[in-house]
Amino acid sequence: MFESYPLHVAPTRQLRRVERPTWTNHSIATRRRHGHAPKPWVADLLAALAGIGFGVVIALVVIGETGGTLASPGGWLIAVGRLAGFTGTYSMLVMIVLISRLPWLERTVGQDRLVRWHRRIGGWPVALIALHVVTITLGYAQMTKVGPLHQLWVFLANYPDMLAAMVGFGLLVVAGFSSARIARRKMKYETWWVIHLYIYLALALAFAHQIVTGVVFLGHPLTRAFWIAIWSLTAGLVLVSRFVWPVIKNLRYQLRVADVVEETPGVYSLTISGEHLSRLAVSGGQFFQWRFFARGLFWHSHPYSLSALPHPPFLRVTVKGSGDQSKAVAHLKHGTRVFIEGPYGTFTRHARTQGRVTLIGAGVGITPLRALLEDLPTDVDVSVVIRASCVEDIVHRDEVEELVRMRGGKFHELVGSRKEVSFDPGTMGRLVPKIAKSDVYVCGPDGFTERVVAAALRQGCDPKRIHHEAFSF
Ligand SMILES: Cc1cc2nc3c(=O)[nH]c(=O)nc-3n(C[C@H](O)[C@H](O)[C@H](O)COP(=O)(O)OP(=O)(O)OC[C@H]3O[C@@H](n4cnc5c(N)ncnc54)[C@H](O)[C@@H]3O)c2cc1C
Repeated sequence: MFESYPLHVAPTRQLRRVERPTWTNHSIATRRRHGHAPKPWVADLLAALAGIGFGVVIALVVIGETGGTLASPGGWLIAVGRLAGFTGTYSMLVMIVLISRLPWLERTVGQDRLVRWHRRIGGWPVALIALHVVTITLGYAQMTKVGPLHQLWVFLANYPDMLAAMVGFGLLVVAGFSSARIARRKMKYETWWVIHLYIYLALALAFAHQIVTGVVFLGHPLTRAFWIAIWSLTAGLVLVSRFVWPVIKNLRYQLRVADVVEETPGVYSLTISGEHLSRLAVSGGQFFQWRFFARGLFWHSHPYSLSALPHPPFLRVTVKGSGDQSKAVAHLKHGTRVFIEGPYGTFTRHARTQGRVTLIGAGVGITPLRALLEDLPTDVDVSVVIRASCVEDIVHRDEVEELVRMRGGKFHELVGSRKEVSFDPGTMGRLVPKIAKSDVYVCGPDGFTERVVAAALRQGCDPKRIHHEAFSF
């Protein structure tokens, strides 16, 4: 199943050599399923359900308290601890659903925004669960008239599943700290990702102590059933959308590397062949998570946008070697198995609101724009602006030019060093005079995207009509 990297030996299974597709041949690209449109009502419904669930959790905890329990020593501390524990765990489950890669949610909200939300609320569950540990320990210590450390020891030694829960809490704290911006900057993406996976283990370790020792559940079978149901639902969603569904789809598609070509220095296009690809619903501008079955590469997946619409039986991605994995793809051998998850992303024609579109790209950011260009309806008036230091660095230059020519659009190249050529609002206005009345799609390095967005706003573009894809989360 595995092929080694660097790859010196011949592939174990030779693929039938198929002629390389002509990536600008539209008749092939149209023999395919179009990407699904976003469904905003699904996101609204899920948000409403999450809100209702939160209300129910608070109500269940509050109803479980009585005047007597609150008035007893440590009563208030214990009540606060229970509320913090339940709301913290519930928010943690919501965070997991946000990144469970639910197709409807991904298609409507977009992975970048979901990851941003996940990050923004990420500190709260950890803080609430820490509050739970502290206040419950202090509360019980007051109730039993012992010191907090003694109480902690009693919990660990005498309460069922409490030791596992405490180990889970430790893992959660480590994962929480590793996600802080300052720590993340110093860490390799893969290291952070592996630490982050411990959150699933932390939650699993904590589950039993909630069900077995949670006072809120004693004598309340309905509350217990509700809590088990939301845990099962979350676990089911993660299992199905991250494992079962991708495995089923990949067994169907049987993807393998068919060809690797250097496009510009350090940038490689991978042609992937497969079966039933005319049934793969994807929009130009979307990306997949790619996993290559080669030694050292299999254990992590990376996001790459399609650099052309599927031309069944082929897909194509174009990758710039920037780190370990992206550099290694240049050495992938013909026949290497490929596993994809997706498609994801909202950087598609569905985001368009106008009959006029401006696509602005630089570097490897041109690749999703190239696929998007192919996917835009033929009656859309298109202008493309490409920024590069030299012409040789422009990825898929001929294809973009030809696609623009075929639809009668305008193609501009801004070539030269930053000193020679600046992409300011004036230049933008000269190149695309009607930019304020168009949808603007931007993809390129972070600094470039920021400058283009600022220039477009200065030219009077509506922020809602500026769509950009970042190549890092
Ligand atoms: C939505 C999206 C679409 C992309 N499309 C393309 C494309 O079409 N062509 C292309 O060349 N590059 C694309 N990228 C960038 C590409 O994913 C990274 O360059 C690649 O993952 C780097 O991995 P590495 O191991 O080579 O480098 P590393 O040195 O390990 O990582 C460099 C940086 O890449 C990012 N990164 C690494 N791994 C991941 C991951 N699994 N998920 C998210 N971000 C990660 C992190 O910000 C990290 O700091 C895209 C990124 C995103 C988020």
